Amino acid sequence: PPDVNELGRSTWTFLHSVAAQYPEQATPAQQDDMKSFMCIFGKFYPCWYCAADFQEWSAKPENTPKVAGREDFGRWLCDAHNEVNRKLGKPEFDCNFWKERWRDGWSD
Ligand code: FAD
Repeated sequence: PPDVNELGRSTWTFLHSVAAQYPEQATPAQQDDMKSFMCIFGKFYPCWYCAADFQEWSAKPENTPKVAGREDFGRWLCDAHNEVNRKLGKPEFDCNFWKERWRDGWSD
């Protein structure tokens, strides 16, 4: 199986980068597509126990993907990532800075 940490870092880079380029106001079609994308992502993420927990978290009514626009989606993804951070005992990321980290850019 793939290295779960390497896979995770690469996947978060990809997902947060997608959020950083998501339209500020998404059309209904784009919102539907993004909901489908995240749902399918959860079914095929190649770390089965990661995928199972992610699916369980995102199935809760309060955690369904927020896809109206970039701000909503970026925050939701940050919350999803923080859920994994908590589970792994890592520090939570301050979601006020998600765009600085993933759109405007800083190095870490
Ligand atoms: P990562 O958590 O990979 O983060 C990379 C960078 O993102 C950080 O350096 C930081 O700059 C930034 N960042 C951190 N938190 C946030 C945030 N909340 N919002 C925005 N940016 C942030 N691993 C497991 O061992 N068990 C699991 O069950 C598990 N489930 C996962 C589920 C999913 C959907 C994904 C994508 C990954 C999962 N992982 C899991 C992997 C795990 O999240 C980490 O990627 C891995 O532990 C490597 O961590 P890291 O410390 O290198 O930083």
